[in-house]
Amino acid sequence: MRQRLKSFETFNGLTDLKNLPFTTKKDFADCFPFGALAVPKSEIARIHTSSGSTSKPIATFYTKNDLEVWSELLARGLSCIGAGRGDVFQNTVSLGMFTGGLGYIDGAERLGMTVVPLGSANAERQLETMRDFEVTVFHAIPSFGIRMAELMESLGTAFRESLKIKLAIFGAEPWTKEMRSKVEDCLGICAFNNYGLAEVGGPGVAVECPSKAGLHLWEDHFVAEVIDPKTCEPLESEEEGELVLTPLSREAVPILRYRTGDITRIIDGPCDCGRTHRRIDWLKGRLDDMIKIRGIGVYPSNIEKIIALHKESNGTFQILLSGIDDLTVRLEVKGSALKDPPCLESLKASIFNEIKEATMLRTKIEIVEQGSIPRSDGKAKRVVDTRKLA
Ligand code: ZN
Repeated sequence: MRQRLKSFETFNGLTDLKNLPFTTKKDFADCFPFGALAVPKSEIARIHTSSGSTSKPIATFYTKNDLEVWSELLARGLSCIGAGRGDVFQNTVSLGMFTGGLGYIDGAERLGMTVVPLGSANAERQLETMRDFEVTVFHAIPSFGIRMAELMESLGTAFRESLKIKLAIFGAEPWTKEMRSKVEDCLGICAFNNYGLAEVGGPGVAVECPSKAGLHLWEDHFVAEVIDPKTCEPLESEEEGELVLTPLSREAVPILRYRTGDITRIIDGPCDCGRTHRRIDWLKGRLDDMIKIRGIGVYPSNIEKIIALHKESNGTFQILLSGIDDLTVRLEVKGSALKDPPCLESLKASIFNEIKEATMLRTKIEIVEQGSIPRSDGKAKRVVDTRKLA
């Protein structure tokens, strides 16, 4: 600790950042709720929490200035995907404690968009509202995008043509480019990936531009490092590892070197869009999302990628872990495919082989009809692990 402090006293700017300690999710949990607050409570303008998808939620606080910066970053992100004045923006996520709610409303207003703050509602109501108010841009979490896509297919071409949606920004959940393409095709939109997390202030850390070759990280507000998650040593640009973020402008919760648990790499070099902020690669998933089966580490995204490429699937799936180490992949297929047993058998065989090739694991493939896997308006529960109970 003394050595740490000494290096802090002689801190020589960003090159010395690597000598400072990390902040972790556990640090936040240990000091919940107010321990990380650096301003008097009377200076807090708003409180949000993380969704608590992997643990107890994390509290995050904003001063008036933090809210200003945040709305500017979200406005910048929306502008980066091609939205602006004249567009009508609908937020499909909960407008409560979740950072993706009010944050986006503020950002869209700031950009001069017309805002439809519907918040959480079922997919039917979301699509109806989009049609009624001629919505052109929306924000959603990826699993809800899949749900809307599914519904759109059942509503048919005439309904789809009655909508004006053209752009969408997705975030808060790991997903794959393959799933993005599926959602884009079904909804007839161009979809972009956004990255952020409550611990550093919510969404608005990095976003894709129309080049879709990585997410521009707003380096005027965040310093990004990529480290080896085992040794904690910084990695070179282009090397894949765990993303570590130091927010530069946060007043209420100014933290150093937050270990995000997210796997990516920093992409150097210019982007076709002309923006000079460096990019991070499409997030591969969170370290703690990795499941260990028979000694092999697998991310749900490894499976999602494979499933999304099959046109018979609607993109909804679950990974079931049971017994000692049994792996079943359950996926929904569209009605027409279900009525065709030879097609189902060949689908099962191809998914089995593709998963085996990608992960070396032999899986049981279970096919169910559309709507069988429980849906939730929150984040998707992709993995059901009953191994410990067995
Ligand atoms: Zn770009």
